[in-house]
Amino acid sequence: MPAFVIVGGGLAAASAAEELRAQGLDGAVTVIAGESHEPYIRPPLSKEVLLGTAEADTAFVHERGWYPEHDIELLTADAATRLDPPGRTVELASGRTISYDELLLATGARARRLEVPGADLPGVHVLRTLEDSEALREALRDGGKRVVTIGGGWIGLEVTAAAATYGNDVTVVMRGEIALASALGDDLGRFFQSRHEAHGVRFVTGANATRLTGEDRVTGVDTDTGEHLAADVVVVGIGAIPNTRLAEEAALDVDDGVLADAALRTSDEHIRAAGDVANAWHPVLERRLRSEHWANAIEQGKAAARSLLGQDVSYDEVPYFYTDQYDIGMEYAGYFPLARDADVLYRGDRESGEFIAFWLRNDAVVAGMNVNVWDVNDDIKELVRSGRRIDRARLADPDVALGDV
Ligand code: FAD
Repeated sequence: MPAFVIVGGGLAAASAAEELRAQGLDGAVTVIAGESHEPYIRPPLSKEVLLGTAEADTAFVHERGWYPEHDIELLTADAATRLDPPGRTVELASGRTISYDELLLATGARARRLEVPGADLPGVHVLRTLEDSEALREALRDGGKRVVTIGGGWIGLEVTAAAATYGNDVTVVMRGEIALASALGDDLGRFFQSRHEAHGVRFVTGANATRLTGEDRVTGVDTDTGEHLAADVVVVGIGAIPNTRLAEEAALDVDDGVLADAALRTSDEHIRAAGDVANAWHPVLERRLRSEHWANAIEQGKAAARSLLGQDVSYDEVPYFYTDQYDIGMEYAGYFPLARDADVLYRGDRESGEFIAFWLRNDAVVAGMNVNVWDVNDDIKELVRSGRRIDRARLADPDVALGDV
């Protein structure tokens, strides 16, 4: 019976393990997890867990006992340190060596750190793990602090929303001129930024942090625009770096993630990749895509499991993600590389805070985002997936059901 090994204890790993069993696999499954926890999901770490409205243990993917009940060996706090594709073995930090027939790399990503003087001072936070979220919650929850968020992307803004909600005085320092503009375009970026400004958040735009000041702990941030911002807490949210070291050292093809085909097969036929670490060929987009999102970790993890079992897989999911900031809940489904520079059409009034935005190319919907409008994301995904030309007037008309556009 072939042995299956999954390296990485995040959501993609957990989904793959679950799918292997759901597909009826009886043989050995081992999950090698570098963190000391069972696999957990990260979205609540910048939302409910950070805000203290949910306990950390609600983030675990499976209930306690699920792994032994499904005869899956879960090794926590024991990272894989070396992968030997010709010998089909993995070495672990504990010194153990495990043999495999088929292996999944789901090592995810880590928070990018600032590389400026003072970046290691106490009081400077990143947010990737449960421990990061708990430490940040401790730092923010009493309010009344001067908080500087470096980075105006999704995680930076979710942390900013939590920090402001706790009653802290928050400034965002960011490179671009408008928050989220590179993801959503200027108008929708302004929509999000204005919601933060309404909560008293200040934005320092077109600026890079050049130095974090302080001796025993951080006291401020210097920028290349000449500002000095006093700070009690600094949060660095400048993106994530895929964990590719194992793959690189094993001479797999790597380029902004582990390269994989549409079946999620890497340059070694017995190794698949899924989740944040995978830069996989997308058959609809006809290009590689590394999607750092929750839904991708779930679906790609499952697809990789089926591929490991020898099933015919062509992973072509429409990318999906969501965010919650203050009273804004939004879901986005679509091909974000195609949405850049596409026309934007609105259904509903942006100012009301309840609307859907569609990105169109040649009258086909390439992406859609519902903001405080619910139960429409499946229809949006279907519009994107179909690639069909639509009538713009009907798409904009809230009285026409999306399925009938
Ligand atoms: P990861 O979650 O990074 O898990 C990989 C695991 O592998 C880690 O535990 C790592 O320690 C382990 N590992 C690495 N190397 C080794 C090794 N050598 N040996 C063993 N283990 C190893 N997405 C959304 O769509 N919506 C959101 O609202 C959202 N919010 C987020 C909020 C935060 C704070 C963060 C950090 C991410 C958020 N995301 C969100 C992104 C989403 O969480 C990721 O896309 C998802 O976690 C990817 O899962 P993964 O399993 O591929 O990787």
